[in-house]
Amino acid sequence: MHLMLLGAPASGKGTQATRLAQRFGLVHISTGEMLRQACVEGSDLGILAAEYLSDGQLVPDHLVVELVLDAIDRAPGGFIMDGFPRTLRQAKAFDTMLQQRDLPLDAVILIEVADCTLIERGTGRRIDPVTGQIYHLLFAPPPAEIAGRLEQRDDDSAQVVKERLYIYQHTTSEVVTHYQQQNLLTRVDGSGPPDKVFDHIFGLLSLNPRQAEQ
Ligand code: ADP
Ligand code: AMP
Repeated sequence: MHLMLLGAPASGKGTQATRLAQRFGLVHISTGEMLRQACVEGSDLGILAAEYLSDGQLVPDHLVVELVLDAIDRAPGGFIMDGFPRTLRQAKAFDTMLQQRDLPLDAVILIEVADCTLIERGTGRRIDPVTGQIYHLLFAPPPAEIAGRLEQRDDDSAQVVKERLYIYQHTTSEVVTHYQQQNLLTRVDGSGPPDKVFDHIFGLLSLNPRQAEQ
């Protein structure tokens, strides 16, 4: 299965992608996670990308497209895209990649959440550096024994979350239109608790006969 999750920053893409990847045995391809890892490793890509990430700006298309090319070739059993594409140019490059490999997208799911909720989710997000698990101080609190080791992402300050939201509304919205025009887009209400959002997405995928066969 080849899935894509779209949605504003902190809409819940990573949370749902992790669950869907486990449920369907897919590789979870998060460009944000790969870029953060490159920054930690201090690779050439990480050095180039670091300032974009900390300012909440998009990393140049060609760098991200290279990363994704490599990642999809390592996912022969299927993937779920999280955080890519974010520009129309990335979406078109991705279409070409998939056509060349004869890999049609099965579904593009847009997780919709109100702006005020996005800011609340972004600023309260915490990551477990050991497992990579995503928590939230209020909505998905961690077990007490690991609470002390959780980290906040540099780009989850209120100011940078707002900047990322602005970029989403002005740039990434074109990507939504792109997949809508291809009749691939399904909108999901992301405002409920994670289990409810998951059940909704799972139900949609199970209804689609092409996925049910897999
Ligand atoms: P994204 O990958 O879209 O940036 P995340 O999955 O990292 O978003 O979620 C952002 C924050 O919101 C995290 O702290 C996560 O625990 C929390 N979160 C995710 N989904 C929900 C939900 N349905 N309800 C409440 N909080 C959520
Ligand atoms: P995310 O983890 O998806 O919230 O992404 C964190 C940050 O990584 C973004 O704010 C961008 O700086 C960068 N990033 C992630 N994915 C992309 C992408 N597809 N194109 C450009 N920049 C990206």
